[in-house]
Amino acid sequence: MMGGFWAPELKYAGYDKVILRGKSPDLVYLWINDDKVELRDASHLQGMGATETADHIRQELNEPKAQVAAISLAGENRVYFASIEQGRSSASRLGIGAVMGDKRVKAIAVRGTGDINVAQPAEYLELCREVLEYIKFRNENPIPGVMAILQGLGSPQEMAIHDERWHTENFMWGNSRVRRKGFWTDEVKAAWTQSMDSMRTRLISCYNCPMKCGATISPPGKPTYMMKCFSKLTYTMAAMSDLDFGLKIAQHATEYGVDGFSTPQVMAFALELYENSILTDNDMPGLPSDNEGRFYWLLDKIVRREGIGDVLANGTYWAAKEIGNGAEDYAHNNIKKHEQLPLKLSMLNPIYFLMYSTGEKINITQIEGQFPQAPYPKREQREEFVKDWFQVPDEKFKQYFLDWELRGENSIPYYPTVQMCCDIVDWQEKMHYLDDALGMCAGLSSFPLKPPYHIHNYPKFISAGAGIAMDEDKLSQAAKRYRTLVRAINIRRGMRRKDEMPPKNHWKKRFPELEKELLDTYYRFKGWNSDGIPTRESLEELGLDYVAEEFIERGILKDGEDGPAEEAATTEVAQE
Ligand code: SF4
Repeated sequence: MMGGFWAPELKYAGYDKVILRGKSPDLVYLWINDDKVELRDASHLQGMGATETADHIRQELNEPKAQVAAISLAGENRVYFASIEQGRSSASRLGIGAVMGDKRVKAIAVRGTGDINVAQPAEYLELCREVLEYIKFRNENPIPGVMAILQGLGSPQEMAIHDERWHTENFMWGNSRVRRKGFWTDEVKAAWTQSMDSMRTRLISCYNCPMKCGATISPPGKPTYMMKCFSKLTYTMAAMSDLDFGLKIAQHATEYGVDGFSTPQVMAFALELYENSILTDNDMPGLPSDNEGRFYWLLDKIVRREGIGDVLANGTYWAAKEIGNGAEDYAHNNIKKHEQLPLKLSMLNPIYFLMYSTGEKINITQIEGQFPQAPYPKREQREEFVKDWFQVPDEKFKQYFLDWELRGENSIPYYPTVQMCCDIVDWQEKMHYLDDALGMCAGLSSFPLKPPYHIHNYPKFISAGAGIAMDEDKLSQAAKRYRTLVRAINIRRGMRRKDEMPPKNHWKKRFPELEKELLDTYYRFKGWNSDGIPTRESLEELGLDYVAEEFIERGILKDGEDGPAEEAATTEVAQE
């Protein structure tokens, strides 16, 4: 579910997962104390912030070592981008906090004091030793030729790195509109370094991890909170402000329990509507005159679902529909109804086109990973890169990369070829789904280049750790089954090919024919029909016969055909 310390504590209590079924009539919290599990009244915690809730529960249970995952006002009010906060980490994308709030579960506290049984301890420890040694090696030998945050392992090292030229000059500001070339001057660098140095109290890691991806941030006069990755800049850039502001408002937002990617974009969207008179003073009574004040004002309104905040709490896609009057043109940075990274580029990248289009975790960082984002300019550099690239599942990936040029025949958008793109995306996606299934941090596996965990050593870890005979083929098949099930759930909810489209303005140069071919080929490659629905045959091959039967019963697939049942598909979408 998330990094930090909560999941290991759950394992020490003797569990791998917590599944919440149904809804509670009243606000409750779940207390897992080794074998003893109870639901407790949480009415006194209603409206409380996430960190405050965790502190309160620990005191009430007299268990200072309990780990607490909690929602805040946003989750209770089912804000579509509410998070679950855990002090040292969070589960933020896709409004998982709203699901917990809908079930009226304020928090899950856990204390585990048991042991963990390992099937073959000596083999397992040897594998751990190899991984640790590799992490040390990688940390001492950053990958040359890529930007600083991609040179090492872990979640991008935003807390340690001060140089933000790349993000501030390449990512978009405001409502994902404005590119500020030349922004990163010596003065800005000095001021932002000072902000970070004065508020960052220390770099921190998740449980037993040798990396230190996060940091504790202590803004003056405010409680300490945890931050990592690109959330360092999301509020700053959406508000066209500075890092001082970004680090301060992020404390507020973390306590309120909202996603650091979507929330700033929703607020910037609202202010753009206001500047263009689509929202007026009647919609925003009491809106402060200064920009930063407006962001704080909007944040309060959204998490409380007060006034216009009630509309904005549904995210830019649904808010635009409700506001009308041309507002939909301003919700321009969505895919599958969710706000995306504020990035606008020039030339279509076919690998990223497929990842954006077909990814179902609604965050490009949840699919991108082990294949470099761009070619190295010189062949010698590429040869150097592939030399110790042992993580590849197949040697062909080395050739794909070796032949990838910045210009000419072997450059984007037509190289990597359509089939190569399918292979690359499938590999990257597989690793992300494996990480999720295994509860592993993407920062040490699917996300960075040349990670310590990969398709070759995962089966060994599973065999030695759990005593399950595992090999690469079986593991790949398990990942495919899991990935297909996720798609099946979304298909049942109405997702179709028409939804598999990156934001229109993500790239300036688009290639409709190539894009169509990419999607057609990838669908076939995955065993999906022309509308992106897994075929009966591919479902049965994965042991998902019951899904095929349900699809036929619901009219999503026609018996004996792989095509979609148009009428039923339309009805599903309309119902949503
Ligand atoms: S690599 Fe992952 S588990 Fe380790 S500190 Fe970074 S985010 Fe946490």
